[in-house]
Amino acid sequence: MIKMTQTRGKGDKDNVCFADAVLNPSASFGGLYTFSTLPHLTPHILREFENLTYKELCKRVFELLDLGLSEELLEFALHTYDAFDDERTPVNLARYDENLFVLELYHGPTRAFKDMALQPFGRIVQTLAHGKDYLILVATSGDTGPATLESFAQEKLGKDCSIKVVCLYPKDGTSDVQRLQMVTQDSTNLKVLGIRGNFDDAQHTLKSLLQDSEFVGFLQSKGIELSAANSVNIGRVAFQIIYHIWAYCQLCKNGVLTRTESLNIIVPSGNFGNILGGFYAKKMGVPIGKLISASNANNILYDFLTTGVYDIRHRQLLKTSSPAMDIIKSSNVERVLFELFGAQRTKECMRSLQDKGMYALDSVELGAVQEYFAASFCNDMQCRELIAKSFAKGYLLDPHTACGIKAYEDFVKLEGGEKFVLCSTAEWSKFAPNVAEALGARNGLEDREAIEFVLSLDKKQKLSPHIAEVFEKPIVHNEVVDIAKVKNAIMQWLK
Ligand SMILES: *Cc1c(COP(=O)(O)O)cnc(C)c1O
Repeated sequence: MIKMTQTRGKGDKDNVCFADAVLNPSASFGGLYTFSTLPHLTPHILREFENLTYKELCKRVFELLDLGLSEELLEFALHTYDAFDDERTPVNLARYDENLFVLELYHGPTRAFKDMALQPFGRIVQTLAHGKDYLILVATSGDTGPATLESFAQEKLGKDCSIKVVCLYPKDGTSDVQRLQMVTQDSTNLKVLGIRGNFDDAQHTLKSLLQDSEFVGFLQSKGIELSAANSVNIGRVAFQIIYHIWAYCQLCKNGVLTRTESLNIIVPSGNFGNILGGFYAKKMGVPIGKLISASNANNILYDFLTTGVYDIRHRQLLKTSSPAMDIIKSSNVERVLFELFGAQRTKECMRSLQDKGMYALDSVELGAVQEYFAASFCNDMQCRELIAKSFAKGYLLDPHTACGIKAYEDFVKLEGGEKFVLCSTAEWSKFAPNVAEALGARNGLEDREAIEFVLSLDKKQKLSPHIAEVFEKPIVHNEVVDIAKVKNAIMQWLK
């Protein structure tokens, strides 16, 4: 069984096994736990993978990663995929055109890719907790919150569940459906708090609470351990490696890719957790060409990946039609820095980001990053145009995935004949007003009207019952607090 290593080096906390890093994700010096070694997937192994089911692939890769989870536990966790649209395969790979395939990652209960990791994650955490009381914090830009709440709702985990979840979301920073998915979650072990601030504020609050001795002491006095469900948690990232490998193997199996060709993967990115899964897959030897990060107008990742400078000093977070990517402080970039440049350099960069608001890679380092990554971004107007254009071709996109189409259009010209996979991160129904507007509806439709509008245009679409029900359920969480009051609000709730 491998030990997880730490992105900023070993300080007061030890390297621990995967299970312990899942339960207690904050590492020394404010860093993250990450894999200390990765297995090498030879062409022979990849060929074997082509004949596995999605779940079998997941079990094989976890075994090769040597994470020390028992087969029974993983099996139990993967059963959550049975409730996805197609019980045999949680994801769907759709052909978009000659060179582009869309890997639809949103077929789970909350209609965004977060379910891919958070559905099994819930069962893993519950089992590893062994009946101990845990508080799990989650900060969301819109989709992690619903997926975490769904995964930890009391009725899903059984009445004896010892896990409580507090979810922080930016009050005006999510779509209506996303907000309703959270504030209608009626379960006594769940608390949802709107905060006056944006996602970066929410994530920052979460990270400070993990380090806050008064808060941790208060929890200890009540016998409660603290954890987090953001992609700072390596447990989520592990599940996000699998579908990148799956897509590659399926395209080989179907003869779309020859075994000497490589595949480019486009990922609409915010906190960089999804694309990080692709990065690990490439490091493990999967023939991935470039991992292309697609941003919206908050294009700090584009700047970083093209110039090597990560600079937040003059950035204001912009509100866009793809709110799950309205992020400036992208947490998982740190794991890439660690993998490429080691703990010392990562610690230095992260300290510089904290103290000076920026860090800069040198040209050799930038070259190393660009061996793996390329980048593109898309403004809201281009996003609307691409939704309309794709729809005319017969494919309905959500605004996040549309940013990925922009990346495809930018890169396909350069790479004659190469194949691309675009990770589709959400279903259109979560962002119906923006999608309807792109398809010609008048401005300012309410979510339900917008959904009706889209359904009337596209007879192939069916509304998921999971989305339909959020409009019917009563709102049970209406507390909105200032950032400075979050700690008190949580302590109050636990009393
Ligand atoms: C979370 C999310 C993203 C960004 O994913 P990261 O792993 O944070 O980069 C993109 N699109 C949607 C719809 C999301 O929910």
